[in-house]
Amino acid sequence: AGMSSQYLEVRDLTVSFDGFKANTNVDLTLMQGDLRFLIGPNGAGKTTLIDAITGLVPATGSVTKSGVELLGKKVHQIARLGIGRTFQTASIFENLTVLQNLDIAAGSGRSVLTMLRRRGSVLPAIEEALETIGLTAERDKAAGILAHGQKQWLEIGMLLVQNADVLLLDEPVAGMSHEEREETGQLLQRIGGERTVVVVEHDMDFMRMFATSVTVLAAGRVLAEGTVAEVQADPKVQEVYLGT
Ligand code: ADP
Repeated sequence: AGMSSQYLEVRDLTVSFDGFKANTNVDLTLMQGDLRFLIGPNGAGKTTLIDAITGLVPATGSVTKSGVELLGKKVHQIARLGIGRTFQTASIFENLTVLQNLDIAAGSGRSVLTMLRRRGSVLPAIEEALETIGLTAERDKAAGILAHGQKQWLEIGMLLVQNADVLLLDEPVAGMSHEEREETGQLLQRIGGERTVVVVEHDMDFMRMFATSVTVLAAGRVLAEGTVAEVQADPKVQEVYLGT
């Protein structure tokens, strides 16, 4: 009771690969509305942490969303509990239109053919997602011909129509132009608020502009946590970044 604003709680999370610990005793508390950047040198365990939260790799410890334990659940069960993630390479259906991609994401569980046959009517949630990701004018284009940034936004839109309220985004602005980065930051601010967004990122300028809080991982452990200013002023953080 009284914990509903704590969206995601990671406690004492450890992930081992053949005895090598990619995450060691990680604690992380995410609140509704957090736009949390997860940074750290290559190999720090950032992607592994997201993989563990989403059920892709086994872990020990505890990961709860609004009090519900996620560890031990299957990937699709965790997704259904509102945890959405993107990968470093966009996983959209290139031959289908933007709208069809969103339709399939919204209808997980229904048959793809049923959705492809349903013509004309666009679900309000899909209209809203199109607007949010700025792709309303592109809705009938094949996803494969979208610009790089637009593909990433489509993927975020697919999480929105799945009702994900915790979004874990792995390097969403990698390969984007300056303008696309700006637009992505604004998109993340728009979808924040009643949701929680975690961004794994290397781009420090992007982080400075948009992060509300930062967690620094190094060698699988949480090295520092706080505001951008606090983390940047931390000698431990300066040390790992100078050391890379
Ligand atoms: P980051 O995302 O911070 O760059 P990763 O989470 O990808 O780091 O990797 C953390 C460490 O775990 C690295 O040393 C990596 O080689 C190792 N690792 C990641 N996945 C596996 C795996 N499936 N099997 C063995 N080692 C892995």
